[in-house]
Amino acid sequence: MKARNGLTRFFNCYILRESRIIKEELWIRDGKIVNPEEVFYVEKVEPDVSLDCDGLLIAPGFIDIQINGGWGVDFSYDSENVEEGIQKVAKELLTHGVTSFCPTMVTSDKEKYSKILPKIQKKQGSKHGATILGVHLEGPFICLARKGAHTPELIKNPIKGIDSLLEMYGSLENVVIVTLAPELPGAVEAIKSLSQRGIKVALGHSEASLAQAEEGVRQGANLITHLFNAMLPFHHRDPGLVGLLASTTDKQVYYGIISDGIHTHPAALRIACRTNREGLILISDAVAAQGLPDGAYRIGPQAVSVENGWAYIAGTKTLCGSTMALDRCVKTFKEATECCLEYALETASLHPARALGIDNIKGKLDYGYDADFVFLHPKTLEVQSSWIAGEKDMCSQRSEQNDCLISDGDHEIADRSSWNNGFRARGLVLVSLAPRNLRRRRAAVKAKQLHLIIKF
Ligand SMILES: [Zn+2]
Repeated sequence: MKARNGLTRFFNCYILRESRIIKEELWIRDGKIVNPEEVFYVEKVEPDVSLDCDGLLIAPGFIDIQINGGWGVDFSYDSENVEEGIQKVAKELLTHGVTSFCPTMVTSDKEKYSKILPKIQKKQGSKHGATILGVHLEGPFICLARKGAHTPELIKNPIKGIDSLLEMYGSLENVVIVTLAPELPGAVEAIKSLSQRGIKVALGHSEASLAQAEEGVRQGANLITHLFNAMLPFHHRDPGLVGLLASTTDKQVYYGIISDGIHTHPAALRIACRTNREGLILISDAVAAQGLPDGAYRIGPQAVSVENGWAYIAGTKTLCGSTMALDRCVKTFKEATECCLEYALETASLHPARALGIDNIKGKLDYGYDADFVFLHPKTLEVQSSWIAGEKDMCSQRSEQNDCLISDGDHEIADRSSWNNGFRARGLVLVSLAPRNLRRRRAAVKAKQLHLIIKF
């Protein structure tokens, strides 16, 4: 019997590669995407498993760089059971095609940071949950006048630069993004120090002029937090943070934008993507109510009321984030801007990967990249399943029937538990083909190796 090599081949699928959707096979092994030609002709190895994708679209897994919580969990509030909360959200996110995320903490007090931050460790994802890329800290070094949903009493100036941040947060070990207002005293020095440490700086909750924003970018900032929200509105004599979209600074500036049909008008979405196409990143900015019905929730120290899917600080009409996961933001964005599907998908995958500097391993379906991807219906864009590090997520297997059939007597390729854990797809119909059938189906496949064909 031939030893298993862990090679899986997806066929009869469309994939997003080099900004184009093409009909091509996708081969993976050991959690990475591999080059089929190299494997087949050089290594002379054939896949253990072939999966018939029935015309589905495979896109890189979505990356959400700003998410406050979901499914009842608020990352800024629940300090006693942080790991459980993070894991719960990480697991649920896979059902929305999100394979990596940055748990986001809003303005909090020192005690909360010291309790919560050490417990949100960066973590490689698996079929049990999305990858935790690191924390996004939004505040407290923001502009009081543009506080949005942040608690005014807790907002601070970073007077001592990076030392003010270290004093407040305790440690920056698990942090990948800090949102701050560049016009505050000490902010420029803080931006410089954060950038030197490899932490991305996002400008937001700010009244910065364009000149102040550009100085922030020169010092290392490369992101804008939820464009249009919690900043000066566009003014033609001083366009403020919004002006960075058409700034003459050398560097590409990325900007998060909430495309939930509530936070940003469709015309504003169109203005943004037509002005700075490469910089656009879809974020959910989702709160604890994500995935749950209207009701009472929290964001950090504040009570939240969700009515008809709109999340407000309780007793006010101040929006405090969305209730929509990133897969739906992609759909809303595509409809609002009438952009091509390739671009819509890249705004939630390639662009955030580039902004974080991880586009050498994530955000694409290129050879050597992490096998993090999402199966989508090509027309409706409904998520069919997510795969992370080459494993199919457990969530989309829950509802399946335990009815797999393996009908070959000579080759033991996968036992029942492997199927249940790894390969079973939604609405599974499993057919085990005899070698002669395989020859007919794909001339290159040698007869001795049994291939299992799974139909979605
Ligand atoms: Zn915000």
